[in-house]
Amino acid sequence: MLTDYHLHLQPDGIEPRSEAASRWQSDGGHLSAAWIGRYVERARSRAVTQIALTDHVHRFREAREWVDNEWWQGEATEDVDAYVEGVAAAREAGLPVLVGVEMDWLPKRQEEIARFLEGRPFDIVLGSVHWIEELAVDHPDYPAWDRHPPESVWSAYLAELVAAAESGLYDVLAHPDLPKVFGSRLPPSMAGDLQAAVEAIAATGVAIECSSAGLRKPIGELYPDPDLLAAFHRAGVPATLSSDAHAPEDVARDYPTAVAALKGAGYTTITTFRGRVPEQVELG
Ligand SMILES: [Zn+2]
Ligand SMILES: [Zn+2]
Repeated sequence: MLTDYHLHLQPDGIEPRSEAASRWQSDGGHLSAAWIGRYVERARSRAVTQIALTDHVHRFREAREWVDNEWWQGEATEDVDAYVEGVAAAREAGLPVLVGVEMDWLPKRQEEIARFLEGRPFDIVLGSVHWIEELAVDHPDYPAWDRHPPESVWSAYLAELVAAAESGLYDVLAHPDLPKVFGSRLPPSMAGDLQAAVEAIAATGVAIECSSAGLRKPIGELYPDPDLLAAFHRAGVPATLSSDAHAPEDVARDYPTAVAALKGAGYTTITTFRGRVPEQVELG
């Protein structure tokens, strides 16, 4: 089985969204079964039989006050319950879709995160470390790497990734080596820190994703890179498969590379979810 467990229904950013809006408006909106059906159609054309929609928590008004910056608050225009109902309705219409969310790790907001997740019928919750306090590892307007040397950024990032895993709030850690996105790889002197983080993550039971999104970014490689993926496998960390597409045409993009990396790392199964309960299914 192949899945795509990290998908967004719209691009990030007000301008890119307004430029693309005619695409979903002609389908009846971005929460319509017709628009979601385009993701399913592209998935099927790439032999993927189940997908999870996982829109960013920063899109939802309910999370608007969690981060005090202009970009985050400008993005928070949607109603989370309308989103959940839209995806659930697409499933009731027969589409093989799961209801998910990409939930930022914000250590000061753990209570709000738990409340946000409680009582909503999510199938899968992705945990993402994009922010280290007020700076981001992947947002050019809030660049952590302009203010701090790579060792500091990576050290803080790994500490937050482990803390996210240990919080118990998440099913899957998304793009686990994200700080390399613009080219700043983990300094070789930090290999021991990385291995310690892998082992701490393994102890929590959370999964990691193998994401093809990095291939479309300046770094041009999978998240995580094949060596790190192998380290996760050796430590017993389960994996999901994903593209992090923000438009239908990118669903399951570059999957031959991602599947080969998973197999090369030793994975013979991937994790599926339903109602946040994991199950291992054969990969491929
Ligand atoms: Zn992300
Ligand atoms: Zn994403």
